[in-house]
Amino acid sequence: MKILRSVHNNFLVNSYLLIAGTKQACIIDPGYATAEEWQQVKLLLQKQQTQPSMVCITHAHADHIAGLALLHQDYPNIPIYLHPEGVELYHSYNRYARLMGLPEADNMPAVTSISSQDNVLHFEGEEIQIKYTPGHAQGSVSFYIPSEKVVFTGDLLFRMSIGRTDMPGGNYQILEQSIFNQIYTLPDDTIILPGHGDSSDVAFEKQNNPFVKQKNNI
Ligand SMILES: [Zn+2]
Ligand SMILES: [Zn+2]
Repeated sequence: MKILRSVHNNFLVNSYLLIAGTKQACIIDPGYATAEEWQQVKLLLQKQQTQPSMVCITHAHADHIAGLALLHQDYPNIPIYLHPEGVELYHSYNRYARLMGLPEADNMPAVTSISSQDNVLHFEGEEIQIKYTPGHAQGSVSFYIPSEKVVFTGDLLFRMSIGRTDMPGGNYQILEQSIFNQIYTLPDDTIILPGHGDSSDVAFEKQNNPFVKQKNNI
């Protein structure tokens, strides 16, 4: 599987394209705010001779979903996966878009609910595990692909940093528990691909993250 990153809008959101062998792409967090940005991603898709077949959303903050309306215009039939606790925030997109200086959407496409009970999505024979990781926003999840040893953490955990917890749905203690229980329990060599900034890995963050360090059990 190929994983391509592109960076979008004023909030520098990382959007990811997962490309499997069979001309299918899975999009994580489409942050494209303008037609030009979406055009660039479409060129990327064309170059890889691939078409999007599904969209996974780590959480419904407007900067992470600004490109959905554009994407939906061109690809109206692909499923958009979101945790049910994030659906209300998702449908408040225009309110937050206005506050954040992002383009408003005429209507937001329908979403397909995922839950940690279902636990797994399938993309071209690969398993995408859904880790319920609240603490930053309502319905925040991380997507873990064991076969690729990668986890997409959205705004839960960044290289040497963590997501904000001062907005609605945010809670520091819950965020810390999500990181300890769902991310730091993954194999040490798991690559962390966050919603903003550079990649990292589990071993490095356990040792070096100034906010959420591995607790010494002794
Ligand atoms: Zn966020
Ligand atoms: Zn963000």
